Amino acid sequence: MPKILVKKPVVDINGDEMARVIWAKIKKELILPFLDISLLDFDLKISNRDITNDDITVQAANAIKKNNIGVKCATITPDDNRVNEYNLKKKYPSPNGTIRKILNGTIFREPIIVKRIPRIVDHWNKSVVIARHAFGDIYQAKEIEVKKKGTLILNYKSAKETVSEVIHEFDSSGVGLAYFNLDNSIRDFANACFNFAINKKIPVFLSTKNTILQKYDERFKEIFEDIYNKKFKKKFQKNNIEYQHRLIDDMVACFMKWSGGYLWACKNYDGDVMSDLVAQGYGSLGLMTSILQTPDGKTVETEAAHGTVTSHFRQHENGKETSTNPIASIFAWTKALWFRSNLDKNNRLKKFSENLEKICIETLESGYMTKDLALMVGPNQKWLTTDQLLKVLQSKILKLNL
Ligand code: NAP
Ligand code: MG
Repeated sequence: MPKILVKKPVVDINGDEMARVIWAKIKKELILPFLDISLLDFDLKISNRDITNDDITVQAANAIKKNNIGVKCATITPDDNRVNEYNLKKKYPSPNGTIRKILNGTIFREPIIVKRIPRIVDHWNKSVVIARHAFGDIYQAKEIEVKKKGTLILNYKSAKETVSEVIHEFDSSGVGLAYFNLDNSIRDFANACFNFAINKKIPVFLSTKNTILQKYDERFKEIFEDIYNKKFKKKFQKNNIEYQHRLIDDMVACFMKWSGGYLWACKNYDGDVMSDLVAQGYGSLGLMTSILQTPDGKTVETEAAHGTVTSHFRQHENGKETSTNPIASIFAWTKALWFRSNLDKNNRLKKFSENLEKICIETLESGYMTKDLALMVGPNQKWLTTDQLLKVLQSKILKLNL
């Protein structure tokens, strides 16, 4: 069978531990036998980040910037224990943070839905994509402790003016804080959300508390509305999808009631909390994907949302077979290839990506799965090792007419 030609390269970012082990298997079994593709390799395993003083991470991000599409394996974000374990020169920052800063992207988290795998919320049968505005608000706030009676004042100064607002006259001790955001960052976030939704043909809901923060949260609402009306409304209408702002209280209620199938644009803190809620509500880390996308929608980096699965790697190091779920990592590949196909108008590649996703879901539906999912289905559900599952998937691709 002739391989599918992929003319432009994909940046392939390797990682650590068990995620790295399954990464190699996925490429060998499911990708390279079927695609004639040039992968630009960047090895972000922790020892290599240490050797290069983390320059390899910057190089990888710049390569994605240049080539538009990257796919990333999970990597260790070192803490003190890891610094000791790998004898690192320093505690390097999270590679995901570094890459996100360089690409100025928004992170979209999306669960993979499989009917057979029970969810905590039973009627969530379509995915909810959570977009988190990962800039400003409490994450760049300054806090103070107030020891005794006094006045807390918010001051803004420029060459021409000073704006002052008394926050509170303290009679006794307490705490205070100030935080900020930037119109440009909110605009980038809005563009990224609308572009992502157009690709997937799903509606967008932005949640804020603008009834209370009538300037701060209202600005988010205004900017989204403005960009929607000027740039996206017609495209949305053509695709029969819509945009709405909703109060965060109302949105969480709808989130519980509705069955999914939309993008939820969250402010920074809301996105932090809601992405964990969605991950748990939909069931499994092994079924959660993550896409970093630039505001113009043209550059993406895809990955599984889970980490390097250290506990399984310890078994692997002891020569034991593991049942590590490869599905989210496979979807990182299918999504990267899908975006590549979309940019290059490569129909065969698009079909391949969609078929591989379909095969994964059908395989799980028909009862072939890893242990993490089997435990959710129930005591009678049998499970396969990672290798066995990959073989089943490969045998199904081989039957396709590519
Ligand atoms: P983790 O690797 O996501 O694993 C947490 C637990 O979730 C595992 O012990 C395992 O549970 C289960 N799990 C996660 N993915 C699974 C899969 N594919 N198949 C089966 N079970 C799975 O998180 P962590 O243990 O907190 O972090 C490990 C390392 O990953 C850390 O060094 C952290 O810095 C890094 N990390 C990287 C990223 C990233 O690169 N995006 C994200 C998060 C964490 P059982 O042990 O019960 O089987
Ligand atoms: Mg969180």
